[in-house]
Amino acid sequence: MREHSDPHIPAISTPGLNEPAEIEEEQEPARREVPGRSEATLRLAATAANLGLWDLDPATGEISGNAILSRLYGLPAERPGRAADFHAAVHPEDRGRVESALVKLRKDPGSRLDLEFRILRHDDGSLRWLHSTGSWVSDGRARRFIGITLDITDSKLAEQRLREASQHDPLTGLPGRGLLFEYCSHLLAMARRTRSNGAMLFIDLDRFKPINDTHGHGVGDQVLQQVAKRLVNCVREEDITGRLGGDEFVVAIPHPDDCYGPAIVAQNIIRSLEQPFHVGNLQLHLSASIGISLYPRHGSDLDSLLKAADHAMYLAKEGGRNRYRFFNPLDDGSDEREAQVETLLRQALDNEGLQLHYQPIVDLQTGMTVGAEALVRLQGAQGDLLSPDVFLPVAESSGLINRLGEWVLSEVGRQHVRWRQSGLPPMAISVNIAPQQFRQRSFVTQLSESLDKSGMDPAFLEIELKESTVLEDVPEAIAALVQIRKLGVQVALDDFGSGFSSIGFLSSLPVDKLKIDQVFVQSIGRDRQSQAIADTVLALGRSLKLKVVGEGIESADVFAYLQDHGCNQAQGYYFSEPLSAAEFEQWCRQEQSHAQSVH
Ligand code: C2E
Ligand code: MG
Ligand code: MG
Repeated sequence: MREHSDPHIPAISTPGLNEPAEIEEEQEPARREVPGRSEATLRLAATAANLGLWDLDPATGEISGNAILSRLYGLPAERPGRAADFHAAVHPEDRGRVESALVKLRKDPGSRLDLEFRILRHDDGSLRWLHSTGSWVSDGRARRFIGITLDITDSKLAEQRLREASQHDPLTGLPGRGLLFEYCSHLLAMARRTRSNGAMLFIDLDRFKPINDTHGHGVGDQVLQQVAKRLVNCVREEDITGRLGGDEFVVAIPHPDDCYGPAIVAQNIIRSLEQPFHVGNLQLHLSASIGISLYPRHGSDLDSLLKAADHAMYLAKEGGRNRYRFFNPLDDGSDEREAQVETLLRQALDNEGLQLHYQPIVDLQTGMTVGAEALVRLQGAQGDLLSPDVFLPVAESSGLINRLGEWVLSEVGRQHVRWRQSGLPPMAISVNIAPQQFRQRSFVTQLSESLDKSGMDPAFLEIELKESTVLEDVPEAIAALVQIRKLGVQVALDDFGSGFSSIGFLSSLPVDKLKIDQVFVQSIGRDRQSQAIADTVLALGRSLKLKVVGEGIESADVFAYLQDHGCNQAQGYYFSEPLSAAEFEQWCRQEQSHAQSVH
């Protein structure tokens, strides 16, 4: 029971609910009004406001009230309720609280009532929240307790929904960020007290964005719900699984036996999320990258443990996705790492530290290699090769992307000339052009100068632009593309399929090739809707007389499908991974000698 210091409970009398009586408000005689009229007005106001009025006789313990009070309790309005009826409706869990408030009232003549409690209505048993306030009054003869009761169910429910929404993620029903942090803080406090350990798994889905982009958020949401269920199935009951937002989840494992425990949980999660997801007729594939941090080894507070797990997750992604990784204190924070990559990149640009790998592109009719895509690599500090996913964003944000692009073009030119001189059959080489590089006013000049310098035959150079790069400023792009094709260079639209270019728009674009986005190629035979996009790109290519290249081919089935459906060229791990220049040369020579031996 809460006691308020200043509720202004109006002085009313409800003897038998009919007869007005003279009542004087005990503590505020100055507010006294003409008896009778004020009461009638009050009754009308109470009815209009749906207020229950009541009057408790301390001598008998009886309660009398207006019709609204009876209605609030689900009692017949025409029959004055008895105290026992009102008490009987009080929710069993609140009864003790209500009774002790009434006992206190009886004992203390100066006390006031301000109480929220639940009832189960007499008529339909429904649960309602009521709020009663009241105070002592004296009518000169006897002291009575009077007050009002209001149904506050709607606002209670709204309050509850708000509380739940702020604590639970409405999509998956898992604890949201706030609740997760609250739980984890308790776990940490307990681990500190009992000197036990704990583990935190930071889970980020791989390839979730393409699902949202391709199939819409409705499908994405259903996938997230299924992911949440699988996560819960992979952990013990005492572990906590929550959603941080987007496609990021956290699992907190209190007192694991050793570090193998979290590793096994991570492995189970990876296996479970590898299984296809079914939404309607769609079959979708995902994977997860997981970072693990351990308490107390990697941090003593929640923030540092979460940061450590997040960073380990980032490195797991960088290491090729679909894997877990423990935090290693020797790993730098991401800002430092970005700075490190930038330094590496600058050094590489100054000292020829970049490399190009070449992924064979095969003609689907003849099965022969007709060209390659040049893919840039950066030598890491430990002699490892960093993938463009890691350093291209740094190149873009640091403005080094144009220098990098220039280097790639000139290196491709030099290499092509070397290969021709060594007698290799002429191969078309595709070069990826970053949006920033393409937007430069001097890009066409740069391209032409680079070709002049290396002496490469422009007919064998192809540039790849992402569909989105062209869509950014269509008239500018068309003007540049016309110039580029005048040089004799071919143009391909890379990762084509999700930009929803219309046939009308495409026919106005001076391009030669469409490269079907890997996401759609890899869905062939797995997911009908994505496969339909691959089919549409093939049909578009046919009707606009553009070559279509399937990339990311990993299986014989997909290869056969593309072959049967009129795809012209293909590249993918099924044929070969990207190769160093020397390896690609060897690949071509072997193919050449094999072809000669067959004839
Ligand atoms: P992209 O142009 O779509 O290149 C294809 C990517 O798919 C390459 O990744 C390639 O190694 C990978 N790939 C090829 N076959 C398969 C397969 O069967 N399965 C799978 N899962 N992947 C396959 P990479 O080399 O990591 O390049 C990633 C992206 O980086 C490229 O995507 C391209 O957008 C960009 N990039 C690469 N080199 C350059 C460059 O020299 N300049 C610019 N601006 N961007 C580049
Ligand atoms: Mg490409
Ligand atoms: Mg591509």
